[in-house]
Amino acid sequence: MMSIDTETEWMRAQASIERLEREGVSEKAFEPSGEILCCMDEGTPMGDLRSAGSGILTQGEERARFIAALKKAGVESVTSHEGCGAAALYRERHGLTDKSVDEVAMEGAKHLAAELGVPYGGHITELARPKGFHNARVVYADGIGDFNPRKVESLPPGFVVSASVMTQEQAVSEVALALKIAFGEHGFGEKFTPAQPLVVVALGDEALAAALQSAVGGEPRVKIVSFEPVVKTIQKAA
Ligand SMILES: [Zn+2]
Repeated sequence: MMSIDTETEWMRAQASIERLEREGVSEKAFEPSGEILCCMDEGTPMGDLRSAGSGILTQGEERARFIAALKKAGVESVTSHEGCGAAALYRERHGLTDKSVDEVAMEGAKHLAAELGVPYGGHITELARPKGFHNARVVYADGIGDFNPRKVESLPPGFVVSASVMTQEQAVSEVALALKIAFGEHGFGEKFTPAQPLVVVALGDEALAAALQSAVGGEPRVKIVSFEPVVKTIQKAA
């Protein structure tokens, strides 16, 4: 693995996190730009629908409800990506050790695409983060839909969980997995402290914010903030 200058990576998002906490999230971040299902990974902000491993961990009734909600949201395709933490977890849970994590990720996305009746969108290998390192200091839980931090330059990158197409239980468990990755050996880990916590941003859903507070709010290295989209008033030219 390439050596990562974690201090530089950490400071890269410092100003944008401070600005996020001060100013909230502009409605511009919710303008639809393509209903492609991608992983929640901060390295794959290539679509407006986001779930751990592109839904690989869902099963049973939860999966059925997720599929119905994705169809309603107009899902166009399903992608997988290189070095997927959720696919690695799925591989471990199901004892698929004869396959690589990438193979498991691809198969999972293809399987869900077939169930949705949409094309498989390919395996993303150019990640918007350093390879092998999660530089996210923020986890967004999107209770509105189509949120993507990439649409607003000043927003810090982060994991995105599309809670608007999930049951509250699925959304909370995906946020918890994102926290586990960020706190783990591939993330900033010990750099998170009560003074410099990982920020969980609940968007447009007070019930979800409350559920996140009770599920993960007890962790002193986590800070939960909640925002409604900030509407910018545009002055009309006379
Ligand atoms: Zn992933």
